[in-house]
Amino acid sequence: MNRQTILVVEDEGNILTIMRAILSANDYKVIEARDGKQALQMVASHCPDLVLLDLGLPDMDGLDIIRQVRAWSKMPIVVVSARDRERDKVEALDLGADDYITKPFGTSELLARIRAALRHMQGENAQACDRFVCGGLTIDFFKRRIYVDGEEAHLTQNEYKIVTLLAKYAGRVLTYDFIIQHVWGPHAQRDNQILRVNMANIRRKLEKNPASPAYISTEIGVGYRMAEADGPRL
Ligand code: CA
Repeated sequence: MNRQTILVVEDEGNILTIMRAILSANDYKVIEARDGKQALQMVASHCPDLVLLDLGLPDMDGLDIIRQVRAWSKMPIVVVSARDRERDKVEALDLGADDYITKPFGTSELLARIRAALRHMQGENAQACDRFVCGGLTIDFFKRRIYVDGEEAHLTQNEYKIVTLLAKYAGRVLTYDFIIQHVWGPHAQRDNQILRVNMANIRRKLEKNPASPAYISTEIGVGYRMAEADGPRL
């Protein structure tokens, strides 16, 4: 099996050294860029399987790199940044980053997020699946039905749209704006309140303990994330 190539975009030498060590030890091929210009060249010339992207680069903002890469490629981009404000995370995710890790990061977390982003890309290329299974939750996309522990859950049309959208991107945070635009359309008011009301109803219907959800978690101030499906998505 070919090793997967990760482009690390990072201007700080010591962080770059740590990342290189972690990734090489886990059998990834590592290529490096120390500024934005070099990063864009390497993305185009090497077409890596995933990009780990620092936002604070000497010559440009990492957000511009996301914008430019997303204009032509779906390659997974995981932001690794010291910026920990919600606004920064939301902006990066809305521009199309697959995930956002704040520095300092834990090795296991970094590797898990990388695996999730790579897996998602494989899912994207694989044939469309007609079923999503995660623990006791089953979504049958073909019959448009949702079951919890074998019992059918009765969702409204919008609730169903929200749940299936999150399932489609399982493991990734979807921002409030992203969900609102997909469910209520591009001209919908950016009002999180109606989404929160829908989510409360969804949790009441799907979760054993809505206060401590097992399936859909909240990234406070950012959005929601569906837990990953069990096993391979066929
Ligand atoms: Ca930096």
